[in-house]
Parts: sequence; structure tokens; C-alpha cells
Amino acid sequence: MLRGRCTLLNWLVSTMSEKQKYQRTEKSQALLDKVETPKYDRQILIGLKKFLNGTAPEDMQSLYSAEELTVLQGLQGTDKDVEARMPVKITRHYYELAKNSAPLQTLVKASPSETWDLEGAADPGKQMAYSPIEGLIHKYELGLIYVVSTCSAHCRFCYREELIARKTITREDGTTAPKGMAQIPDLVHYISEHNQIVKENGGRHPDTGREKLREILMSGGDPMVLNNKKLAEWFSSLGDVGIENIRIGTKELAFYPDRFDSTFFDMLDHFHEAYPGINLRFMVHFNHPDEFLQKDDQGEFIEDPDGGFVWVESTRRAVAELARRNWINIENQAPFIKGINNDPVAIRIMQRELKRHGVENHYFFCGRDIIGHRAFNLSIEEAWNLLNESQKGLSGVESHAKLSITHYLGKTEVVSVTNEPMPGVPGGENGVVIFKLLRGAADAHNKGQVAIVGRNPEAIWFSGYEDRVIYDEPGLFTESMQATSSVKLAVNS
Ligand code: SF4
Repeated sequence: MLRGRCTLLNWLVSTMSEKQKYQRTEKSQALLDKVETPKYDRQILIGLKKFLNGTAPEDMQSLYSAEELTVLQGLQGTDKDVEARMPVKITRHYYELAKNSAPLQTLVKASPSETWDLEGAADPGKQMAYSPIEGLIHKYELGLIYVVSTCSAHCRFCYREELIARKTITREDGTTAPKGMAQIPDLVHYISEHNQIVKENGGRHPDTGREKLREILMSGGDPMVLNNKKLAEWFSSLGDVGIENIRIGTKELAFYPDRFDSTFFDMLDHFHEAYPGINLRFMVHFNHPDEFLQKDDQGEFIEDPDGGFVWVESTRRAVAELARRNWINIENQAPFIKGINNDPVAIRIMQRELKRHGVENHYFFCGRDIIGHRAFNLSIEEAWNLLNESQKGLSGVESHAKLSITHYLGKTEVVSVTNEPMPGVPGGENGVVIFKLLRGAADAHNKGQVAIVGRNPEAIWFSGYEDRVIYDEPGLFTESMQATSSVKLAVNS
């Protein structure tokens, strides 16, 4: 016991001294010295309060009707409080788009239906099981870090609602606290230690089988709400510790595209000059073409005489500036959400237009089992049908996107839904659904494995198929799916 304590003490002392040793490199400092950090005026409205007391700008006040505000006010302070589930936030730019778009209003407006059914997982994807240090999720070959806990506006369906609303999460050790943000010294220490162990062990970590950490996804929240200097500090620290690819998960191209201004691109270019081997991957988030296409007085998209449709100018400019840098990739990924984008025509136009402008169509997601997910999620079979219909008539390069649903084991593709009965197969009387594990945790030993279940058009989560499993190679239906539980919202007083 005493020996165990001494070992722990030694480890703590060495960990502390390693952390204290962390210092910005000269290269990183030289980069930061060149970075300009302007302030931005996003004209953000936070919370329902200004709508309720009539102090919101006059035109924006019309986003909610008087009846809607009365109902939402009546829920305040109860266990159905909509703002306690997910804070309300909108930018002027998004409001201008949303005033002519019912789907965009659904995306950003609080609705009483969100708290009718509060079933869901407090920690979707069981992320805390893969969090070796605060603010880092190391589940797959890449690491995901939380660098900020807000965005310029808030999507009502947000799959990070527990982070954005700063809810208390139960950790693996039984303690409870809101999810914390990653800190540069801790992360640098973790990456260098992990990669050193991997190197000494012939390319694999002896405990997890993972390879070297080469890629980090900066997430939250939206990293693009951080200023240029903070972003440059993250990028250079990750570059200095040997990270080769940095992902930036962002919806800022929809919420406030003017954030992608000349000072931001100057910072990126200085970074590239100092760290030429590092690839930046912008994981952008467009749910609907109304977020980037202009409309005429009849509400129709405007055809561009040069091909395709006319974009919102600030968004077009930002995407063009990203796309012309060959060390930057741009990938769109978005969930399918009821009342927002369950429209195959809109999704078809979106895939075509994004690809034309240099944005790859990466994933569409079935909604996660977040708290209140029944208000947002399409059934799995509806989502598959939606993607399949939307891709009819698209060329091969326009239809790269897969439909993914995130199981606790890893990202899983909904490969196909059949319409004909499968004779002689119990459970397959109405056709089957085929799932394939796209990515696996740790050493990804189960990647590529498939599961086949009988159809259930009502299923919005794996649990909807538990009673009709035909074949399950990766164990999608035997691993615990019991993370869903009714929770009480923390009501702001
Ligand atoms: S942009 Fe992403 S993280 Fe931010 S509110 Fe929307 S879904 Fe959540």
C-alpha cells in the first residue's frame, strides 16, 4: 500500500514538473507576434429575456409570436424549462437568413416540444469513458478536444447540449462536474507522453493498441469564437508536439461568415509558413442550403448564369478563401433533423453546391440520444431513405456522404434498408437494416464488422432493434445501450 502511494507520489511529482516545463517555443512565439486579433460585432441575442421584455431589436422581436413567448415563459422555472435544457442564442446574420426560412427558424428558435419527453443520455457516446485528461476525448485514432463551450448561435438539437448548457456529468470514478475545457500544457504533456510510449513499443500503445496521435479535432462549442491569437496558440502548440492534422469543427460559416476575414487568413498563412507540414481540416456544419444560398422574392434559390445557384456573398467569399489553400480541406457534416432538413430536394441541392465550391460531403448523422432527442430525431429508416433519395441523380463525386449513427462502440454506417421480406430469416419478414462499424475505439479491431436487424420504421436509436437482431458481428446490440435515462433539468432560478 505504502509502495503504491510512493509510486503515485512519484508520478504526480514527475507529471507536475513535466507540466511546469511546458513553454511556448520560439517558433510559436514568432507566429503569435505576427497575429492581429480584431474584435467582431456579431450582434448576438442571448436568452429569451430580451424577447420577453420587448428589448430585442424591433425587427428581431418578430422571431417569436406573442403566443409562443407566453408558452415558453410559462415553462420557466419548471422541470420543462426549455432554456435550462439548452441556452437560446442567435446572431444578426443568422436571423437575416432565418426570417425567410422556416427550417432555419426551427434550428434556432426555442420550442416547448423540446422538453415534452426528456429521455436521453446525459453523456451521449459515453465520452467520459474515453477522457484521460480534462477536455480530451481519446476514443479513436484521433483526439477530440473541447476548447470552448459556446458557439455564435445555438442549434436547438445540439448534440453537445450537456457542454453548452454546462450540465453536471457523472465521471467514470463516480464524481460529478460539468465537462471541462482542454488546457494546452496538459494536452501537450499527454500527447508527447502517449507518442513516446507508442514509439518505444514499436508503433502501438501497449495498453490500448492505439497508434501515434497524429490528428486533433478542436471542438466545443465552436473554436471559431476564439480570437486569432488563441487559435494560433493552439495550432502552434499542436504543431510543436508533432500533430500532423488539425481539425476545426465549426458552424461559423452559417452563423457569422464575416469571422473569416483577412486577419484570420493572414494568421492561417503565417501559420502555414511556420508549420508547412501541417494540414488543417475545417469540419464545417451546414444543415440546409438556406444557410448559404440567396433567395428571390418568391423564396426560390437564384440560378447563377455561370452555373449552380447564387451564394450569400460573405459565405461564398469565406469558402473560396479556404478552398484556394491546398493545405486546407473543407468537409461538411450535419445531422438530419425533423423539421429542418428532412427534405431530399434541399439535401440534394446542398450536396451539389457544396461540392462545386470545394466542400466535401463527409457525413450525415442520425441524431444522437441526447436529452430530449425525440423532439429532433428522424427514425433511422427515414434518415437512410432521405439520404438515398437525395443522392439519386447526383454524380459519384457529389454523393460521397455516408449516413452515420454514433454507437458507443464507434461511428456506424447505416448501409442499407431493404424493402422485400427476407424469406426464412426470423426477424426479416419486413426487410432488414444493415449497419457497418466505420470506426472502432482504441485499436479499431472491430472496424468493418456488420450487424443485420429486422426493420422497425419507428426506431430512432439502436435500442429500437434489440428484439429483432439477426446477425451482430461487432456486438452493437449486446454492448450496454442502457445509457438512456430520464433526467431532471437543472432549472436556473
Ligand atoms: S454549432 Fe454544433 S456545437 Fe454549436 S450549438 Fe450547433 S450543434 Fe451545438
